[in-house]
Amino acid sequence: MKPIQGNVSIEAENIMPIIKKWLYSDKDIFIREVVSNGCDAITKLRMADFALAQGCSVRVEVDREKKELRFIDDGIGMTEEEVKTNINQVAFSGAQAFLKEYAGDKPQEEAGIIGHFGLGFYSVFMVADKVTIDTLSFREGATPVRWESEDGMTFTMSEGERTTRGTTITLRVSDAEEEFLDVWRVREVLERYCSFMAVPIYLTEIKKEEKKPEAEVKDAEAEDAETEDAAETEEAEEKKEEEKPINDTQPLYARAPQDCTDEDYKQFYRKVFHEFDDPLFWIHLNVDYPFKLKGILYFPKLKEQFGGIEGQIKLYSGQVFVADNIKEVIPEFLMLLKGVIDCPDFPLNVSRSFLQNDGYVRRISQHITKKVADRLTGMFKSEREAYEGFWPDIHPFIKYGVMRDEKFAERMKDCLLFKTTEGKFLTLSEYKERNGEKLPDKMVYTSDPARQDASVRLFTERGIDVAVLDQLIDVNFVSFMEYSGDPESKFRYVRVDAELDSLTGEGDAPALDSDKLIALVREAAGKDDLTVEIKPLANEQVPLMLIEDEQTRRFNDMGRIYGRSEMAMPARFSVVLNSRNKTVARLSEREKDETSALLARQLYDLAELSRQPLEAEQMTAFIRRSMEVVELASRL
Ligand code: ADP
Repeated sequence: MKPIQGNVSIEAENIMPIIKKWLYSDKDIFIREVVSNGCDAITKLRMADFALAQGCSVRVEVDREKKELRFIDDGIGMTEEEVKTNINQVAFSGAQAFLKEYAGDKPQEEAGIIGHFGLGFYSVFMVADKVTIDTLSFREGATPVRWESEDGMTFTMSEGERTTRGTTITLRVSDAEEEFLDVWRVREVLERYCSFMAVPIYLTEIKKEEKKPEAEVKDAEAEDAETEDAAETEEAEEKKEEEKPINDTQPLYARAPQDCTDEDYKQFYRKVFHEFDDPLFWIHLNVDYPFKLKGILYFPKLKEQFGGIEGQIKLYSGQVFVADNIKEVIPEFLMLLKGVIDCPDFPLNVSRSFLQNDGYVRRISQHITKKVADRLTGMFKSEREAYEGFWPDIHPFIKYGVMRDEKFAERMKDCLLFKTTEGKFLTLSEYKERNGEKLPDKMVYTSDPARQDASVRLFTERGIDVAVLDQLIDVNFVSFMEYSGDPESKFRYVRVDAELDSLTGEGDAPALDSDKLIALVREAAGKDDLTVEIKPLANEQVPLMLIEDEQTRRFNDMGRIYGRSEMAMPARFSVVLNSRNKTVARLSEREKDETSALLARQLYDLAELSRQPLEAEQMTAFIRRSMEVVELASRL
């Protein structure tokens, strides 16, 4: 063939300078582009001649000494004509779109680019100051072609020297991009983007040829030539045997679910997410219609509090990595899971605006949500015990989903559980059924079973179930439950120290001197306008209770969660004196004196102490007063 020189299609001149200037963040994408071209070339060969494609692979060579990165495949190769049409006349279609979005001097993120766009082969010019393609087509009688370019805008083409089928892309890595001559860096990129590609990919570091020391050379000469040969081939074979591709060409998610064992799933999880813990359970997605989608979603074990879960959903397209955690594809609340999703019709290069406006993307997202809900409701119905076992780990995720996604909420509404202080797991309707008579239209809960134990007991002793809602998300969740769904529903959630109605007893209560008692309590609390009520409580033992307004407390809790404590409202308390309690009755009868004031203060602090730790000063006063009480008692 005659050597030719020319310009790459017209847009290149406009586009290459911008690529170099702007595509700084995801430069490593060029490795994905070139390796996946190599894999495609082998897939194409397989379709043309199945037998020929057996054992084909892509090899990546890092040659620091020559400052070269080489991508070698034994795929279909290109004829001269193919190089002209596939390489020289590129359309830069993705890049055109990028240019439109980018218009002006907007920084990259604002331009709405996820990090890359359809540049394909030409992305190599982000890191190389010279690129060579050596290729030989599989077609009989084809001539090898060599293509070279230093800037991606002009090229030369001539007859090449390649004698075997396939393509070698050689990049002379520019000085500023030396990191790509580090074999570990290249390995990291390959593992990120190419872990599941369908053709084996090998990575080799080309080391400087080491000269053997002289003594060794002499020894070797003395040796029998035959044994030397044998040893060498053995060594070479051993090396070959050891060499493992960096990728898994048949990832678990791509297999039929019935062919996968539990151990397979766990192993895949540990390997892909670098996890030591096993997942709780998983969902294997395998959809053919109305779109193609395969994947595995794992429910991880809950670590620490809600905020401690960090999910990761990797999106692939035809076994090529696209990106992590694309929230348009994976509903946000599912980001707490870990998993891989492969949508072969998904473009490799996507922009924000594409994601936001695409019906296909929305359908994928809805489908995934539905599958997750189906799995959970299915488990609830047929494996309730297992579901209850998982509940403590999965409830924050489910609650988050319910609050975030109406459809998910609709599907899950009958499968939400409330764990009680006694370790039962009840649905809302089960709770209502068990407690409705004593506690109509309400659920009592504790946000801290240890701290609020005294108040919890007031209910459990009466046979009322107390739910444990002690996670951050529960603050929002109870409000959500009250104000979503049926607007007619008067059902409310009240913390154990905010509920009084169900604690008032039926037994006789003596008539007490309410003016005297109210004055005593107000003085003890140091608040003239404190609301004090005198009521017969079912439990005679409790003299005084502090009732905190549920809504105000919840508002303040939320403020704390969102870091807006300055907006907090003053806590709204009222005090209930139990008219069935003997101490209270005595205080009512007794002339108001120093001792009754002392006792009232002590009772007030005790009530407060059973809700939360006292402030330092209050605590000191409480201890001093306790001594006085002991001293009084010792005189009896
Ligand atoms: P895309 O892969 O999206 O088509 P590229 O710019 O990456 O775009 O590649 C352009 C074309 O060049 C490919 O479609 C393919 O026909 C050809 N090509 C690139 N690399 C190879 C290769 N290693 N072997 C054979 N053909 C290749």
